[in-house]
Amino acid sequence: MRHFVLTCKAKNNIIHRLSRNSSRLKRITDAFRFAKEGRVLEGTLPLSALERLHDLLAVVEGEVTFRLEGSKGARGEYLLQLVVTGVIPLLCQRCLKAVPFDLDVDNLLELVPEGAELSQDELEDDTRDFLPVAKELDVAELVEDEILLALPVAPRHEKCGLPGAADAGERSNPFAALAGLKGKPN
Ligand SMILES: [Zn+2]
Repeated sequence: MRHFVLTCKAKNNIIHRLSRNSSRLKRITDAFRFAKEGRVLEGTLPLSALERLHDLLAVVEGEVTFRLEGSKGARGEYLLQLVVTGVIPLLCQRCLKAVPFDLDVDNLLELVPEGAELSQDELEDDTRDFLPVAKELDVAELVEDEILLALPVAPRHEKCGLPGAADAGERSNPFAALAGLKGKPN
């Protein structure tokens, strides 16, 4: 690294990167106030920082972009709109290589004080997505939660490159065998 000289541009990029990734920006000290004031928080998170995703990844590379926007709903409820995009290199369940997944999270979350009792009607209302918050909100953790909910359970390539994988899959599929039996006369 002795010959490595920081150009002015590179230096600025590093400073920019550090400030974007500082924990100060990834925490909202009062989520309810954030919503009430209609504030917006945008940024990026490297996949390396989202540790609960790591087991699902073929490579821990890349980042996601998020946007969190606070607002107040018609009932006076506090809302957070969370949008997360990015390409996640998921682990193909068949060949164990990367299968890029286009992440497209867009959720409207309703803030409720942690420990608050929700009515039966509220709990059964599919149109509302409640997020219990003490006050402080860890944005990286929330983004990580929402990504985990959005990922496919068993990701695989549509046309998996593993040699013979498609053939082997069909041969060993018991349902395919059953279907074949069904069609045969007794
Ligand atoms: Zn595959």
